[in-house]
Amino acid sequence: MSHQKILIWYRNDLRIHDHEPLYQAIKKNALIIPFYCFDVRQFETTSFGFPKTGNFRGQFLLQSVANLRASLQDLGSDLIIRKGYPEKIIPEFIKKLDIDAIYFHKEVTSEEINVENAVKQALKPLNTKFKGFWGATLYHWDDLPFEVNQLPEVFTSFRKKVEKNSTVNPTFISPRKLLSFPEIEVGNLPSLEDLGLQKPDYDSRGVLEFKGGETEGIKRLQTYFWERNCLKEYKGTRNGMLGADYSSKFSPWLAYGCLSPRYIYEEVQKYEEERVKNNSTYWLIFELLWRDYFRFICAKHGNKIFYESGLQGLDIPWKEDIERFKLWQEGKTGYPLVDANMKELAATGFMSNRGRQNVASFLTKNLGINWIMGAEWFESLLIDYDVCSNYGNWNYTAGVGNDARGFRYFNIPKQSKDYDPKGDYIRYWLPELTMIPGDKIHEPWKLSQDEQKRYNVRIGVDYPRPVVDFFKSVKANEKVYNASTEK
Ligand SMILES: Cc1cc2nc3c(=O)[nH]c(=O)nc-3n(C[C@H](O)[C@H](O)[C@H](O)COP(=O)(O)OP(=O)(O)OC[C@H]3O[C@@H](n4cnc5c(N)ncnc54)[C@H](O)[C@@H]3O)c2cc1C
Repeated sequence: MSHQKILIWYRNDLRIHDHEPLYQAIKKNALIIPFYCFDVRQFETTSFGFPKTGNFRGQFLLQSVANLRASLQDLGSDLIIRKGYPEKIIPEFIKKLDIDAIYFHKEVTSEEINVENAVKQALKPLNTKFKGFWGATLYHWDDLPFEVNQLPEVFTSFRKKVEKNSTVNPTFISPRKLLSFPEIEVGNLPSLEDLGLQKPDYDSRGVLEFKGGETEGIKRLQTYFWERNCLKEYKGTRNGMLGADYSSKFSPWLAYGCLSPRYIYEEVQKYEEERVKNNSTYWLIFELLWRDYFRFICAKHGNKIFYESGLQGLDIPWKEDIERFKLWQEGKTGYPLVDANMKELAATGFMSNRGRQNVASFLTKNLGINWIMGAEWFESLLIDYDVCSNYGNWNYTAGVGNDARGFRYFNIPKQSKDYDPKGDYIRYWLPELTMIPGDKIHEPWKLSQDEQKRYNVRIGVDYPRPVVDFFKSVKANEKVYNASTEK
């Protein structure tokens, strides 16, 4: 019996579980040819010259692809791996292997859509079926209670409508066996060096030793939910900054699709049945809805999310002060909460949500620096970089997002006292401040000469003076912001 041949084009969906393209191809009893292409464009530089994919994420991606290959081999199949341009490489396979169809998961942002369109275009003369599936979100596009172009602009109203009128679909069944693989050179996994990257130094201070791949993603869920029973307290701990378990840390696996949000949803339901159902179990789903929201917002608004003027189209004269930007990047602003977080990001590729909100607010509301520079720096470094969540959150924090309610900023010294009352997080990343007691560590510029001696730190020598006066800089940037909204 001759089987249909279907190429599964893997992208940011590096898993076997809950994978509709794979599921549908199996339903057709097709011969499945899984394929992944390291798109060289993803290893170029951003508009401000940072590597688009930094070492942390590059390593995580390689581990994820390796894990996918191993899982497919266990099922009797394999993963073809190539490096280059999908629109050039895929048509070659189609001809060589006489493939009938390509199944893949759809993306929503321009770079990804451009590749999709280029592949589609290249396939036209070959008459190959090109079928995209929606699979990155908790709620399916088709199940939203509104058309995507009618998506509410405010998160809360999106959430309420979706929660009231839509349901989350069950996960797709995973295959137990796949048909044997055709004779073809499967290709080696590239090395970090092949991608122009280097092995990142492992910093033992990191919240977690993130390892890419579906197996590790599922393991993390098992640990967080079932072994350590952290889910029951998530709402109370999620604003933390220190340690593995204040939040789920699912984000890197979600970003590369190693974990499906629907799988997480089912596990939360199971946890609610077997252990406890409370505000915390709800809150994890609530946070996943933010992720959905940003993805649908990107689908609705297209490239606006990448414009300096943001979704709101605000013409703010942002500064591109490279010197100050560098101080921010390197954690040398003189504001310990900002500096500790920026050092964590540079050393580990991760930062808590609380940290991200504060450092983004500081860059835009205190330094008045172009938020795109910050977003690109995050894009380069974050191990969990997700185009929609990153640019969506930056829009929001910079005050150019759809939901912006005037000029709002984070009061960094207050946030520092509220979320790191004893200064443990600051001390962890800024050892030069170790001896300063908890109540004084948040504003070291206020230390007297005597205190500096006592705490063994010289402000302006061992630790920088504040790059700007906090409230004066907020006021100045508020004026600029308000002028742009009155235009
Ligand atoms: C300026 C800025 C940039 C950000 N960039 C990214 C990014 O590139 N990739 C990314 O995944 N998240 C981003 N976030 C959102 C959030 O900070 C991370 O998702 C979260 O810190 C990841 O840790 P966690 O998995 O332990 O989160 P948890 O608190 O355990 O939340 C569970 C999941 O919910 C989702 N989630 C939680 N908060 C948000 C949010 N605000 N927006 C969207 N999804 C959310 C994530 O998928 C997360 O894994 C950004 C936030 C800010 C303020």
